[in-house]
Amino acid sequence: MSKPMQIGVVGTGYVGLVTGVCLAYLGHDVTCVDVDQSKIDALTEGKSPIYEPGLEPLLHDAISSERIHFTTDIQKACSSEVIFIAVGTPPRTDGNPDLNFVQQVARSIGSTIRDCDDGILRVIVNKSTVPIGSGNWVEMLVTEGQRENGDSNGNGPRRTGGLASESGQRGKFVIASNPEFLREGSAIHDTLYPDRIVIGASDTRAVNTLRMVYEPILSQQFTEPAAIAPRPEGFRAVPLVVTDLASAEMIKYAANAFLATKISFANEIANICERVGADVNEVTRGIGLDQRIGVRFLNAGVGWGGSCFGNDLAALISIAGEYDYDPELLRAAVAVNSRQRQIVIRKLQHGLKIVKGRTIGLLGLAFKPETDDLRDAPSLTIAESLLGMGARVKAFDPIASELCFKQRPDLDIVYAESADDLVEGCDAVVLVTEWDEFKRLDLKRVSE
Ligand code: NAD
Repeated sequence: MSKPMQIGVVGTGYVGLVTGVCLAYLGHDVTCVDVDQSKIDALTEGKSPIYEPGLEPLLHDAISSERIHFTTDIQKACSSEVIFIAVGTPPRTDGNPDLNFVQQVARSIGSTIRDCDDGILRVIVNKSTVPIGSGNWVEMLVTEGQRENGDSNGNGPRRTGGLASESGQRGKFVIASNPEFLREGSAIHDTLYPDRIVIGASDTRAVNTLRMVYEPILSQQFTEPAAIAPRPEGFRAVPLVVTDLASAEMIKYAANAFLATKISFANEIANICERVGADVNEVTRGIGLDQRIGVRFLNAGVGWGGSCFGNDLAALISIAGEYDYDPELLRAAVAVNSRQRQIVIRKLQHGLKIVKGRTIGLLGLAFKPETDDLRDAPSLTIAESLLGMGARVKAFDPIASELCFKQRPDLDIVYAESADDLVEGCDAVVLVTEWDEFKRLDLKRVSE
């Protein structure tokens, strides 16, 4: 790598932590910040608070080579020349993302960097998925933070006057958007070998700095962590998309909207296939081999879940509404997905007739395999419906059972120890999450 850079990452969730650990692996000096003291304590001891294959060994390496540090003090990240904002943007009830965390962080960065007189032009990077226009908004918030009277945590007055940017030297910053496309479960691989990197900025200096941050990935000039995430054969260079702020923000929403729509399309076709007696797996293979379509994201099933697709579609629909545009296709993709979860219940009713008093097993709880993430997981909607109908729900997930027990004490689920234990005594079993171990189940034996 040409030159290690000082990088701050605010938010150590699925995105922030993986980004921080991978940038440290590539040789940068990374300071990760989170408000959650228990996460920071665990991370300092080398324990990952999330389940993500390969993350812990890379975390250990980064800690032992002192290329990564964890803190709750945002000031420590703000001495860096690049500060990534990677906090959560959970959905509000009206469909718009809750931007409170982003707002807090932007203001804190502003009030911290206003006194920095090291002459460094800081690049503040939105990695969180945020609505179109958020780049300008974050710029405004950082500037407001610089004007505020108070300490960098926003705690009470500290001094008056002395707007940093007025000095011409202090607290200089530029904003960039760098949307994240990693998939939970293969996040290390996706970060080191992405299909593309997108940078949106109105200032070329921001682009140049981020180009340096990502240079090892763009050129693939780093030693692969062979045991954790081997470089795909023939993978050489990564395309860089440089654009304006609004387009970069839109690329993220449009990408997720397209993928979600593709899954809803497969489910729509599956529902018609069932009626006409066609095999949806044959059909999706038959259409997916057309290179204009592609086989990926064409699996029919219980529909998408997770923290991104539903949120991002809702946000995009809401943004379109603000501009008086009705995004019919996007609304249909959401409707098909919601209906898909209820189709499971209809199938159980069809097979069992009476669901009340029956024991239904759920194979899998996480919204997808290789993660413990339960956000908007189809399993939870299905469990809620079944429990509401008077059924008994048993569940087994290789990773997410304990988290589900902790996060959803309101759901009266009986947790099984294994897939074999789960199927014992069930009237019906629903394969919810495609964990590999479930694919290996002998279904004939299970049904017996
Ligand atoms: P997360 O909820 O797992 O992590 C967010 C972290 O931010 C938490 O640890 C939280 O404690 C921390 N945080 C909140 N307020 C803070 C503050 N003021 N200062 C410091 N830390 C703070 O979220 P995530 O899944 O990592 O997602 C982060 C963003 O990336 C979201 O906008 C999401 O939509 C987007 N994104 C997520 C994925 C994914 O697969 N999870 C993929 C692409 C993009």
